Amino acid sequence: MAIREILTVPDPKLKEVSKPVEGGVTDEIRTLMDDMLETMYAAPGIGLAAIQVGVPLRVIVMDLAGEDEEPNPRYFVNPEILDPAEETTPYEEGCLSVPDVFDEVDRPVRCRVKYLNYDGEEVIDEAEGLYAVCIQHEMDHLEGTLFIDYLSRLKRQRAVDKVRKARRRAKEEAA
Ligand code: ZN
Repeated sequence: MAIREILTVPDPKLKEVSKPVEGGVTDEIRTLMDDMLETMYAAPGIGLAAIQVGVPLRVIVMDLAGEDEEPNPRYFVNPEILDPAEETTPYEEGCLSVPDVFDEVDRPVRCRVKYLNYDGEEVIDEAEGLYAVCIQHEMDHLEGTLFIDYLSRLKRQRAVDKVRKARRRAKEEAA
């Protein structure tokens, strides 16, 4: 397993629409998912889409276990959201591609998610609570959408500026 670089805004790659994985869950895809999980744990974060490490494929990893709980990695290949609830609820979201920015986004409170798991088997889950928030946030990445795209233009610009400045500062300190 290897830690990969996480792209941050305003990297144009984050706006790309990811392509479906063809030919099932191969060892190559499993290696990608292993790397993504390690990268996500190191960040640390609770969800990561492949495009965030620069790979435009419909692949997501997630682990919603609390700090005192056993790790519970979840892997999603070619995920689809089914039957999103009409009822929505706000949740304060963050994103590894928009570090240190948090804001409320309204999303359907529950949905079903259909995907291929690590072993390439088709699974349909009922998602609610944090699972529903996280899978919808990650699915957006596959369409090139970031959570800050739901905020006002001013807030979005502020978020991008903040990330840009932090990157510049980190680079200067490293130099
Ligand atoms: Zn994200």
